[in-house]
Amino acid sequence: MYKWAMNSYQMEQIHALGMIRQHAKKLEKPRTFREMKAKGFDLEAQLSGYLAFREEISRFFAGWFEEICTETCYTSGLSACCSKDGIIVFWADMVINAMVSGPAEFKRLEETIRNPASDAKCIYLAPGGCTWRIKPIVCEMFICPDAENAVFGTHPEAGSAWSEIRERKKAFTWPDRPVLFEVLESIFIEDGCRSSLMHVHNSPGLQRLVRNRA
Ligand code: SF4
Repeated sequence: MYKWAMNSYQMEQIHALGMIRQHAKKLEKPRTFREMKAKGFDLEAQLSGYLAFREEISRFFAGWFEEICTETCYTSGLSACCSKDGIIVFWADMVINAMVSGPAEFKRLEETIRNPASDAKCIYLAPGGCTWRIKPIVCEMFICPDAENAVFGTHPEAGSAWSEIRERKKAFTWPDRPVLFEVLESIFIEDGCRSSLMHVHNSPGLQRLVRNRA
């Protein structure tokens, strides 16, 4: 029994998750890595590079922002980051998370979408926190203006390191060359999937980059 009827945002997330479940053979890493290598894309190296990049960002936040975010947001309950229907989830976010999650985590994610803890906060937020193992890149890269000013205003070296991280993110997401976020959409599109979360293939601006790279 669910507390609220699902809105269109929840429906599109559930739809994407269901499709990924249906096409789970694409999550079988050795097989998919082999297929992609034959097509000239080293998915294994890209995926491990991306996961290492994400760990690096986590360390950056732990070093520079943990204290201020805990004090300002979590303790006060303000937590503006996890707002309702406010994040853009990429298809690749879901696929990467599914690749590193077990069935129980996958099920919990789905249940949280259907039955979120609060109707005023993100649908992925459960009482114990975010239900993603590797949360969407948009969430990972979010710093609120107050925290940004407080840290980068007093530590410009942290600001420079952050600019460098933002630039490096493009190697996985910005399709001026074949990138992980695009390829993870293509793999499922070839399998017959279509989703509004496939932003690299749905966005006219990003598709222009794809066309221009030849
Ligand atoms: S997905 Fe997780 S981190 Fe991102 S807004 Fe939702 S609860 Fe917060």
